[in-house]
Amino acid sequence: MHTISIAKGIVEMKRKTKDFLIAFLLVSGLLLFAGCGKVERYLMTDIAMGTVTNQTIYSRDGDLTLEVRDIILKLEQDELSWRIEGSEVARINAAAGSGVYTSVSERLYQELEILLKLSKDSGGAFDVTIRPVAALWNIDVWAAGENPAAEGNQIPETNPTAEENQTAEEGTFPDGQPPSIIPTQEQITLALTHTGYENLSLTEGTVMLPKDMALDLGAAGKGIACDRIAAYLREQSVYGAVISVGGSVVTIGKKPDGTPWQIGIVNPWDTSSLVGILYLEGENFVSTSGDYERYVEVDGVRYHHILNPATGYPADSGVRSVTILCDSGILSDALSTACFVLGVEEGMALAESYGAEALFIDTEGNISMTDGMKQFFKEK
Ligand code: AMP
Ligand code: MG
Repeated sequence: MHTISIAKGIVEMKRKTKDFLIAFLLVSGLLLFAGCGKVERYLMTDIAMGTVTNQTIYSRDGDLTLEVRDIILKLEQDELSWRIEGSEVARINAAAGSGVYTSVSERLYQELEILLKLSKDSGGAFDVTIRPVAALWNIDVWAAGENPAAEGNQIPETNPTAEENQTAEEGTFPDGQPPSIIPTQEQITLALTHTGYENLSLTEGTVMLPKDMALDLGAAGKGIACDRIAAYLREQSVYGAVISVGGSVVTIGKKPDGTPWQIGIVNPWDTSSLVGILYLEGENFVSTSGDYERYVEVDGVRYHHILNPATGYPADSGVRSVTILCDSGILSDALSTACFVLGVEEGMALAESYGAEALFIDTEGNISMTDGMKQFFKEK
């Protein structure tokens, strides 16, 4: 009896081993098949976050561009937009002065902590509470320039005109009236009393602002979008991708031909040409802030969209553009704005303190950069 049951056991074990082997071979065969699938290139150009987005995705698993587009739209709608009622930022702004602490998602809370720290570290050159002053300048209805920097991008057939933007993006203004293009000194002085990151309180997952203050994540939102896109595409094991959201670009993985990603640095004097190219491998976040991206000209004077929180006027620090390269989208975007306001010397020091690489083009056309940036940049 005992011998028979041992023999039966051995037969059973052999059967199970055989079943296991067959299953193993089937699964590895499928994986092998999937792994050998052809890498296809998928492209999309779109408008989101008030700017142009461009996607080039190399994938074996089909087209992911619609999913990426949804990530950007959802981020804008549910979290970052100050003008979409019900978004997290709009809820915080609506509660300003009520004494109510608004609970926000963990992700947004962490992002606000990063931006508040940068506001402090930059001595207020970056200020996440700039909204009342930005509203005066009516920046959001100025035409957004396209970022032709990321390689492989298609140039969209049409760019939004200022007029189209105006109808699409009617905002709310402190006095209920859209302001004239150039605000008066009195208006600016008053609006400045409603800014100041020191008055933003972040406590245990909640956010509170005093009366008349408001958040503006315009200087970091596109970088945050790049972070979210990178997190999604990493999960999909995408072969490679380069995606730009306005002036912020993320690269992931590899190009099928094995050459590096190429990110162009726009010539501020002629935005259809480049001053040079960054050659990058793997995952990178690159953001550029330039005075040519959004501006109006009134009586021959150019007013651009990057404001000095100390004066309430467009920053006049002697630079025309700043490009930051680092391993975080939110930081690359926020640092590029902060460094633009600070100018070459102080901006370079701030970027280095964050372990980021920086490239400045000053108003004389000189290019200066951190030592680390030199290995990636080639002048044209
Ligand atoms: P960017 O193009 O990334 O440099 O961001 C510019 C946008 O951020 C503007 O359209 C404003 O909404 C906002 N902004 C302007 N100046 C500042 C500043 N000094 N700190 C924070 N946000 C700013
Ligand atoms: Mg920025």
